[in-house]
Amino acid sequence: MRSWVEVSLGRIRANFRAVKSLVGDSVEVMPVVKADAYRHGAVAVSHALEAEGARWLAVSSREEGVVLRQNGCLSRILVMADFLAEEHDGFQTHHLTPVIHSLEDLAAVRVPYHLKIDTGMNRLGTRAEPDEIARMIASAPAPIEGLMTHFASSGNYESAQTEQQMERFEAVLAGLRRAGIEPRYVHSSGTIPIAYGRRRAWGNLVRPGHAIYGYVSPARGNAPKPALHVTPALTWKASVLEVKDVEAGALIGYGGIHRAARPMRIAVLAAGYADGIPHRLGNRGQVIVKGTLVPIAGSVSMDLMTIDVTDCPDIQAGEAVTLLGSEGSVSINAHQMARWAGTISYAVLCGIHARVKRVYVD
Ligand SMILES: *Cc1c(COP(=O)(O)O)cnc(C)c1O
Repeated sequence: MRSWVEVSLGRIRANFRAVKSLVGDSVEVMPVVKADAYRHGAVAVSHALEAEGARWLAVSSREEGVVLRQNGCLSRILVMADFLAEEHDGFQTHHLTPVIHSLEDLAAVRVPYHLKIDTGMNRLGTRAEPDEIARMIASAPAPIEGLMTHFASSGNYESAQTEQQMERFEAVLAGLRRAGIEPRYVHSSGTIPIAYGRRRAWGNLVRPGHAIYGYVSPARGNAPKPALHVTPALTWKASVLEVKDVEAGALIGYGGIHRAARPMRIAVLAAGYADGIPHRLGNRGQVIVKGTLVPIAGSVSMDLMTIDVTDCPDIQAGEAVTLLGSEGSVSINAHQMARWAGTISYAVLCGIHARVKRVYVD
């Protein structure tokens, strides 16, 4: 194989258990498996989570939900970011639960739904006043099951935005309660508010994505220590296609952006930006070769990249190197790769292309 990922379902299950034990029995844990489970493979990941006791899963589109149903997933599935109107039938047929973002859509809803409140992120959700929301819920043809919001800056402890969003959310909830409406689920937390222990935001359901895959992003400002301990579940490998020696002064790869300062041994890897290696890693990133970090030399091409193995001379064609993961005491995780590439760990994981084969391990 040119390049592949090994996904540890055991780690995914352990990460789910870690979230569950942190939030306790009164809070439901709904793992987020959108974007093909952040490229870990939504079907296998969902089955593993269901086996571990997950009763809810969250996806972005109706299509993602249907794929899970067609592959035998039986848990409740929340569709967080799709249209209701023309595709309404799918929700009923496949027993999917829609998130409704605007009060106009309430007239068309035929199944229990979760209503999203825009509390200040200014992305999806209704910004209506509590009284109006209560009126529309009362006249909708299907019952409300959940009330939710989403935070814009929960990892930034220098900002008051999360507090303001929580206040707004609590005001809406209080307004609904005054009108006699009590949603079964109240939720607003993804990984960061869970991991940093913002209990007030947990409600009775949390929506971890990143944490399930083993990541908690660093917070800004005066944040508490994360209370959640999870381990990355994905290891990304690439095969060496060729090893060669080049003379001092040789220019390596497109644009000749790397000039060999001395006689150098390079290895050509079977992975490039079409596999999801960020192009920005050219001359910047590192990979692990036989337990040692070695630099990427030259630009990342579509299907190939070149690394400097001068200090690791016994690597041979056909052997594998680690792009993400650990070997012995050395590791590279998605945060690290994201820093080199000037992006975020979420985008590194979601950027792993579908052509990169997945292998499931314990
Ligand atoms: C993606 C998503 C999540 C999960 O966020 P993580 O930071 O990956 O835990 C939670 N809620 C909503 C609405 C999302 O879109």
